[in-house]
Amino acid sequence: MTLPLPRSLYAETARPAVRAAPLDGEKRASVAIVGGGFTGLSAALHLAERGTDVVVLEANEPGWGASGRNGGQVNPGLKPDPDTVERDFGPDLGGRMVRFSGNAPNVVFDLIKRHQIQCEAEQTGTFRAAFQARQAAEVRETAGQWIRRGAPAELLENAALHRATGTSRYTTALLDRRGGSLNPLGFACGLAQAAMQAGAAIHGATPARRVVRENGAWRVDTPSGTVRAERLILATNGYTDDLWPHLRRSIVPVFSAIAATETLPEPVAKAIMPSRSVLYEVASITVYYRRDRHNRLLMGGRGKQRDLSDMRDFQHLIRYAERLWPALKAVRWTHCWNGQLAITPDHYPHLHEPAPGVLAALGYNGRGVAMATATGALLARRVLGAANDALDLPITDIRAMPFHRLWRSAVAARMVYGRLRDVLGL
Ligand SMILES: Cc1cc2nc3c(=O)[nH]c(=O)nc-3n(C[C@H](O)[C@H](O)[C@H](O)COP(=O)(O)OP(=O)(O)OC[C@H]3O[C@@H](n4cnc5c(N)ncnc54)[C@H](O)[C@@H]3O)c2cc1C
Repeated sequence: MTLPLPRSLYAETARPAVRAAPLDGEKRASVAIVGGGFTGLSAALHLAERGTDVVVLEANEPGWGASGRNGGQVNPGLKPDPDTVERDFGPDLGGRMVRFSGNAPNVVFDLIKRHQIQCEAEQTGTFRAAFQARQAAEVRETAGQWIRRGAPAELLENAALHRATGTSRYTTALLDRRGGSLNPLGFACGLAQAAMQAGAAIHGATPARRVVRENGAWRVDTPSGTVRAERLILATNGYTDDLWPHLRRSIVPVFSAIAATETLPEPVAKAIMPSRSVLYEVASITVYYRRDRHNRLLMGGRGKQRDLSDMRDFQHLIRYAERLWPALKAVRWTHCWNGQLAITPDHYPHLHEPAPGVLAALGYNGRGVAMATATGALLARRVLGAANDALDLPITDIRAMPFHRLWRSAVAARMVYGRLRDVLGL
């Protein structure tokens, strides 16, 4: 069964979807890609541009997953800070990972420019903001690390931060000017269109049900046809199923929730994020938000761990927004939705090559707008012959988590604990 897009703000405002008809019958290709989000679409585009014959199989429609419903924050960097990355992976690979992730927003904005993608893109910077002493110290440390590496970043504190955000909630923030925002569904549809124009075939309503090695190729079975390809890319992130052994259990799928206001009246809009940068909080539970080009506020954060569409399930986000900017009490909240992203136990994105010719990339830990897009280009490089050790992410074994079935309650417990820590200021 094909699932419709959630009734998000983006479903109403993004550029029109591409026509991605279901696979019909038998097909051959050099590369088959499962998953039509940023990872799969970016890989398809980069491969097709280099003349590779590529087919994307998407269970629903391009951009249906996290790529078409996220906060639209194009954030630089990995979850661990640069020094930690270099300590964990050594100065060579670690250094390349830091540069790759720091540059990932530029990959996004360059693609948008090159393919003229209409998706309200703005490179107006990302705030990483703290309101508690311990997190403020972390932010200062991270800022220093990026600045030492020559990133266009700066530290803002107290009054300057208050002026930039319109709220006195935060004491300390790193402003990284490589970041920015976009309409994510618009970006996904634009990537799909660019990939198709470059020669990729994209099939919606086409779930991959089984993968079999047959006569030196990979055969992917779907309800309406079969694709045989020399190479296979698995790009299913938070929606990963049991198509490939152990992959689903190598990540924790986590729901994140977003509520959006109507277009704000001019005086209210002016008071919210006057800098027009996007912001995410450094706290036990991440809250993230931005004001879009039409002056709507999009407020994202924790939520119940199931599909949600009732505004009553988003009241905690609305109350928090009103606490930041009391003028919001007079405005209407018009849209709410949620979706699944993928968390990894080590907080790094995972790249696997579990069998000859098979690649999987997932686990962006909430940084996928930039990182999934950049990783799609990296997957294309690997398919086109780049050596393992020339890649800017390590290829690792798939590690299924023990007790994976308990993830839902573990995430819920972590959220309650995190909420408590934030309230108590721990
Ligand atoms: C609510 C929310 C807010 C977020 N906010 C941000 C943010 O502001 N900034 C940021 O950087 N990141 C954010 N993220 C994370 C980011 O959206 C993801 O990391 C990124 O979109 C992952 O892209 P992807 O292509 O790997 O996966 P997805 O976009 O999730 O795509 C996977 C696709 O695979 C398909 N699929 C799964 N199994 C099969 C199968 N067997 N056959 C065929 N198709 C299949 C699914 O239908 C889905 O469309 C957010 C995520 C959510 C849910």
